[in-house]
Amino acid sequence: MEDCIFCKIIAGDIPSNKVYEDDDVYAFDDIEPQAPVHSLVVPKRHVETLNDLDDVSLWNALLRGIKEVARLKGMVDSGYRVAINCGEHGGQVVKHLHVHVLGGKRLDDKMG
Ligand code: 5GP
Ligand code: ZN
Repeated sequence: MEDCIFCKIIAGDIPSNKVYEDDDVYAFDDIEPQAPVHSLVVPKRHVETLNDLDDVSLWNALLRGIKEVARLKGMVDSGYRVAINCGEHGGQVVKHLHVHVLGGKRLDDKMG
């Protein structure tokens, strides 16, 4: 989608630190990490918010991407946090569905 920053990252028009990629999802490091590991997993197809995700196979692909990020970043045993911000109250800034994968240290309990 034109003017979508994550679509441009997926297309390679904006550089990113790629962590994982397959046919359906792309994962890269967040530009402003909130933890020692902070990656984003996004569907390659432009989906605006979690509300717009109705494709179970895409959800499954996102789960695969999350697990690959955890594995590649060495967080499978230590653990990690997964978050999706949806809409205004959820604090979603970029309007292309993305899953935050955070870890690399014990995270505090604040959830908002
Ligand atoms: P949101 O608040 O929408 O859930 O999260 C958007 C995330 O995208 C933020 O954590 C922000 O740091 C990250 N982000 C925004 N622009 C870019 C960019 O150009 N490159 C990368 N790697 N991350 C970005
Ligand atoms: Zn997009």
